[in-house]
Amino acid sequence: MNVARRADTLYHDLYSPAEVVDTRARARGVADRVIAPAWHRIANADESVASFPRDVFTALADAGLFRVPFTADHGGDGLVHRAMATASVIEELAYHSNSVAAIYDVHCLLAGTALASAHEALRGKHLARLMDGTAVAAFATTEPEASSDLSAEAVRTTAEAHAEGFRITGRKRFITNAPVADFVIVLCGMGSGHTAVLIETSRPGVRVSAPDRKTGNRGQLTADIVFDEVIVPRENVIGEAGRGLRVALQSLTFGRIGIAAAGVGMAQAAFDHAAHHLEQRRAFGRRLGENQYWQFRMAERALQLESARNLYLKAAMRMDTESCAPEPEAAMAKICGTELAVDMARDAVQIHGGYGFMRELADGSTFAVEAIYRDAKIGEIYEGTNEIQRWIVARTLFGRDITG
Ligand SMILES: Cc1cc2nc3c(=O)[nH]c(=O)nc-3n(C[C@H](O)[C@H](O)[C@H](O)COP(=O)(O)OP(=O)(O)OC[C@H]3O[C@@H](n4cnc5c(N)ncnc54)[C@H](O)[C@@H]3O)c2cc1C
Repeated sequence: MNVARRADTLYHDLYSPAEVVDTRARARGVADRVIAPAWHRIANADESVASFPRDVFTALADAGLFRVPFTADHGGDGLVHRAMATASVIEELAYHSNSVAAIYDVHCLLAGTALASAHEALRGKHLARLMDGTAVAAFATTEPEASSDLSAEAVRTTAEAHAEGFRITGRKRFITNAPVADFVIVLCGMGSGHTAVLIETSRPGVRVSAPDRKTGNRGQLTADIVFDEVIVPRENVIGEAGRGLRVALQSLTFGRIGIAAAGVGMAQAAFDHAAHHLEQRRAFGRRLGENQYWQFRMAERALQLESARNLYLKAAMRMDTESCAPEPEAAMAKICGTELAVDMARDAVQIHGGYGFMRELADGSTFAVEAIYRDAKIGEIYEGTNEIQRWIVARTLFGRDITG
């Protein structure tokens, strides 16, 4: 069901440059045309290789949305405000499907950012395919025993020097896009440091497990990837061997701004559905929206939406203009956007009453807030849990001497 976009009246975009406004409009057009008709299938299909929303992925690529994060010399759109534009794209995708936003975030922001920093030969081989959608990319730091803690002692996947380059051994967990990925960027431990390596999934010794079955974001396939003495040439190393953590953290900082924007997209969608229901549904002889309880609750949420959107745009703007890791804004934006998505989704389900708990009625009616409720939770967990984000904010405040 299409409902009115309340952001069009509540939100005044004073600081997005024209290229960002244009990119957001382009992304919204694509999302309305391609994702809106498919959201129910994407949100509800059981995870399998066949359930990957390949049609949507290809349509996003064909519309040029995978080029938004990249510079012109790498074949991208070459926008001055790449991070702001990219985050705006993600908000628009998440408005209809957080699964699609997550696929985009991992493909373009995590894997794409790391690949863009690789030397020319490796970049030349893979980045154009990533942008035109003929290859699907994944990015792997998490392991069964390590994720929040990515220290060299915690990471068990190893890269060892070998006559032909490096030998990779280990297991990565929860890896988005893994069941359909053509290549994966893998963070390996190497002595007291880390090395980031691009591994084609067709290499001997790479094994991808069956997709995990999840509460929400079902269109975002995740799986374990096992590396059984996989040999990769030296050219597949990204950045300097031994200094791979920097590569991973750069990607994750950009990705975290994307997850913040996805939270805002989900929160806005839940808000719009809730506002629509409050105007339409009657109880005790009047519309639900006539109860001041809900008016105040929605006013609070409108205020939080305004803050969350401004925060992610500010974090992205710092990234664009200062070429730095924009902390504490990126961490703040992730906390703010993802927690609002969870809170707003819970309110939207409550406002819908029993209908908010329904995937589908016998007459075929569907309720987006049910899917948003399931999809929203993961934003608080992945790409650095919100506890780790609070640690980053506290570190800016107190310094490492106190926070560690
Ligand atoms: C759907 C999905 C997709 C994912 N996609 C990817 C992917 O593409 N690539 C990838 O590499 N990973 C991916 N992940 C992994 C994800 O990033 C991790 O699950 C996440 O970082 C948390 O790690 P963990 O699950 O190991 O939890 P842990 O690190 O074990 O943490 C458990 C809990 O302890 C808390 N905690 C940990 N340390 C501290 C501390 N010092 N102080 C206070 N609290 C603390 C955490 O905040 C968390 O609440 C994905 C996960 C999911 C569920």
